Amino acid sequence: MAAVGNTYSDELRMKPVSLDSSQNDNFVEVTDQHVNDSAQHVLKANLPVASSVRELLECPVCLSAMYPPIHQCTNGHTLCSSCKPRVHNRCPTCRHELGNIRCLALEKVAASLELPCKYQSFGCLGIYPYYSKLKHESQCIFRPYNCPYAGSECTAVGDIPFLVSHLKDDHKVDMHNGSTFNHRYVKSNPHEVENATWMLTVFSCFGQYFCLHFEAFQLGMAPVYIAFLRFMGDDTEAKNYSYSLEVGGNGRKIVWQGVPRSIRDTHKKVRDSFDGLIIQRNMALFFSGGDRKELKLRVTGRIWKEQ
Ligand SMILES: [Zn+2]
Ligand SMILES: [Zn+2]
Ligand SMILES: [Zn+2]
Ligand SMILES: [Zn+2]
Repeated sequence: MAAVGNTYSDELRMKPVSLDSSQNDNFVEVTDQHVNDSAQHVLKANLPVASSVRELLECPVCLSAMYPPIHQCTNGHTLCSSCKPRVHNRCPTCRHELGNIRCLALEKVAASLELPCKYQSFGCLGIYPYYSKLKHESQCIFRPYNCPYAGSECTAVGDIPFLVSHLKDDHKVDMHNGSTFNHRYVKSNPHEVENATWMLTVFSCFGQYFCLHFEAFQLGMAPVYIAFLRFMGDDTEAKNYSYSLEVGGNGRKIVWQGVPRSIRDTHKKVRDSFDGLIIQRNMALFFSGGDRKELKLRVTGRIWKEQ
């Protein structure tokens, strides 16, 4: 089969690169011309080898990159460790019995491989050994962000400028400039808390973007409202800012001071950790004045940069 043929020729191509450190030393002693030739040869050979080894490391079933233990059948077809228990001891490539053979050679070849971070197109210039690449990518500061819009299963991902225009254009989110705000939340039937009332406003200040969330949810048995701020960027930078929120009426007020959370933390995670201004519904209706038939909250706030 084609796959087998490729595998074989890839192995042949690799030989000059990986087996010949002693031979290279011999070349050095002969002439300069030879040194250059062999260096160029290695350089040229390296690129196709890296990409073909990469193909070898792709599990034929789930197509993800394989990590140890990598398994193989008696004919040498490889398989990743999460697919192995699912193929009922049959090699998915040749249908022969799979057995319990580990492909140490491929595991070792993988260890010698260095690959660019998968977020290269987002600006990451890092090159990582195969086995530490995953860990880096899970924390890479260039990895795209998820859309911070709550209340829908939006799958948009991208960098901050992309998400800001996405929020504006696709979610019609209100955008505000400046670090202070004065926001009114009005809801005509506040007793339907369960129907996820929520709002998002984006603030732009200090050259950054912040998401102000306001929503109703059940805290145990109690219907409450929560308002909190998320920072459109990484956690380390979010910590450079603070914010305050204030809500009140009838001579009383509640003040919250906090640190914006990164949008790396999901909206739900922040809400469920109660990291924001929490207003009991009774209090919210009291602040609203009137006949308790309408929610009318005025939330004021400020964002500042810590020194
Ligand atoms: Zn697999
Ligand atoms: Zn097989
Ligand atoms: Zn990276
Ligand atoms: Zn979205």
